[in-house]
Formats: sequence, structure tokens, C-alpha cells
Amino acid sequence: MKIDYSERLKKLPPYLFAEIDRKKKAAIERGVDIISLGVGDPDLPTPKHIVDAMKIAVEKPKHHQYPFGAGLLDFRKAVSDWYKMRFNVDLNPQNEIHSLIGSKEGIGHIHLAFINPGDIVLVPEPGYPVYNCGTIFSDGMPYFLPLIEKNNFLPDLEKIPEKIAKRAKILFINYPNNPTSATATLEFYERVVRFAEKYNIIVCSDLAYSEIYFDGKKPPSFLEVEGAKNVGVEFHSLSKTYQMTGWRLGWACGNSEIIAGLSEVKDNYDSGVFGAVQEAGAVALTSSQNCVEEMRKVYQNRRDIFTGELNKIGWSVKKPEATFYVWAKVPKGYTSADTVTKLLDEAGIICTPGNGLGPSGEGYVRFALTVSETRLKQAVEKISKIKW
Ligand SMILES: *Cc1c(COP(=O)(O)O)cnc(C)c1O
Repeated sequence: MKIDYSERLKKLPPYLFAEIDRKKKAAIERGVDIISLGVGDPDLPTPKHIVDAMKIAVEKPKHHQYPFGAGLLDFRKAVSDWYKMRFNVDLNPQNEIHSLIGSKEGIGHIHLAFINPGDIVLVPEPGYPVYNCGTIFSDGMPYFLPLIEKNNFLPDLEKIPEKIAKRAKILFINYPNNPTSATATLEFYERVVRFAEKYNIIVCSDLAYSEIYFDGKKPPSFLEVEGAKNVGVEFHSLSKTYQMTGWRLGWACGNSEIIAGLSEVKDNYDSGVFGAVQEAGAVALTSSQNCVEEMRKVYQNRRDIFTGELNKIGWSVKKPEATFYVWAKVPKGYTSADTVTKLLDEAGIICTPGNGLGPSGEGYVRFALTVSETRLKQAVEKISKIKW
């Protein structure tokens, strides 16, 4: 039988990290000592008190059945309390918070609730690939918003043509930003809300990195702005804050009608997040946040070492104020792809080509600081031996 894949699948760009993983495996087979700064997956283990909470929760038969719906009320209350404490934002656990099987799941599914074929989705680039993949899966049309250094890696909303803005139904924003590590101010979020009100656009703010900030500069939430809850939702996750990427737990919060749309899609696709994971997640959000402070220190030290050492050998990289990414300009005369290949072939370093995350990422590579300080130092030493 001839297996014929859907046009939808054929339209997807190749999944970037699958390709990087293939190259990595091939290099390991050749016996190369690989230092992987590619995928943004924390190397630190989940804090012990969260793992312990999971051990207790997993024993409870009530969690052994389908969880269904918006999630455990205790989890949603924990989210609500955390938002109040962290951002002074009020969220009703009953209808303004919905658990997700990792925030990627919700970010990828939300289009299905609002996008009709041909509707426009405003997608920042370079950016997290899921914003665009969800658009393709729902037969929407991406309109890409370039994130460039001149604009502090914020989208220039003024530049969006009127007729595009009028046809747009969803706008994605993501600060602290993956991959550029840029942060946004409340003043930017104000402009986003006014833009969304004017054109009737649903704002989806991806706040996965809000807790990975440095030098005490806490990133704000889009929902802090007056009127934000009328136009949008925010996606959040325990993945980066508590080193829980493998657990698959996140949430969407904000406008109750938007949440209801996402909820209806999910009711028809999945049956919720394992209750024990939600119970442990509630413990993570409500207990002492010292572990998060510790995590920030680890990444801040790694950031200082890696950017400091790279600058010493003649690169010119800025210290990120948030996220665990370093968005580095490639050496003169090289493309992102050339640089990634040279770093892998000549130094055994895996990183992400900027253009793989969108055309405006050309001329950059992204390093994820998800290995130890020792390995980061070794990485820069290896890079220093490359002849450009
Ligand atoms: C890591 C990440 C997420 C979180 O993904 P989960 O599915 O919650 O693990 C969301 N958005 C961006 C931009 C990310 O880098």
C-alpha cells in the first residue's frame, strides 16, 4: 500500500531538534566528545521535595483514573495563588485556569479553537516552532513578525499592514524570549493590549521563562496590564521553573471564554494530566521557592562564565537578563549553518542555528546553558582553537 501523508504534514518545516539530534548521534558514533548546548532542556534534577510529593501522590487510587477537565481544583488554586503572589494578578481557579500536558500542548492546540482556514496568525520569528506548527495544523496562515536587535527583539506592531491586522485572529508573544533571551516591559504589553483591542485579536503570551531571570530583574506578566484579560491568555509551565520538562505539566490562564475554547478542543483530544503530577505540581507552586532561587544562581553563574569566556576569545555576546539561552552573533563571513557545522565538526559543540528558528535568526546561533560550568569552560576552550 502507498502511504500518502497529509498536505498538513508536508507543509511542516522539518523538526529542528530531530535533525540536530541525528547529527549529534553520528558525531558520538565517530567518538567525538560532544558538548550539547542545543536543546533547551534543563540538566538539573527536579527538586527533591517535589519528587517526594509525587511518590506520595502516585500511591493514591483516586489518581489512577482519568483526570478529565480543567485539572484538580487544588492545582488550579495553587496556580491562582502563585499568580497573585508573583504578579499581583487575580485569576479565578474555576474558569480562568486550565491545566495542560506541558504548555507546548496548549500552545499547539489553541489554534483549533479559533482559527478557520485562511485566518491569519501573527507569529514572531525567530521563535518557538510550535506557534507556526499549530497554525499549519489548523489551516491558518502565519504572518511572521521579525524580531531584530534594533527593536530589542520586540515585534514592531506598527509595521503590520492594516489589512493583515484586520484578518489576524491570534498574536503570539514570548518574553523572556526563546531564542533571543530578550525581555519585555509592561509598556510593551500595554501596546500589545491596545493593538489587540483595536483589531479584535486574541493574544497568547508564552511566559515559560518568567522565573529564569538574573540580577534581580523580575520579568512582568502580560496579564498585569489593565484590560489584558479581555483579550488574551498566558501559557505557563513548571518545566523550566522547577526543572520538570519530563513531567509534562503546564497551564493556560486568563480570559475565560478563550480558556473554554481551548478546553473544548482538549476534551476531544486528551483526558487531562495525570492527577499525581498535578498534586506534585501544586506542591511545587505552594512550597518554599528557595529551589527556584538556587536554580537562578546556577544559571547566572553559567551565564557569566560562558559569556565572559566567549568575549575573551573575541566573540561579542551580550549577557542575557533572562532565560538560559545565549543568542550569539556568528563570526563575520559565516552563516548560521556554517557556524553550527564548524562548531560541531571542529569542536564537538552542538548549538542551534538561528535561521532554523526563523529567517531573522540568520547570522546568530543559540547556545543553551544546560551543562555544568566545567563543561561550559571546556566548550569555550574548544571553540578558541577553531580557525575562522
Ligand atoms: C520550554 C518552552 C516551553 C515549555 O514547554 P513545556 O511543554 O511546558 O515543557 C514553552 N515555550 C517556550 C518558548 C519554551 O522554550
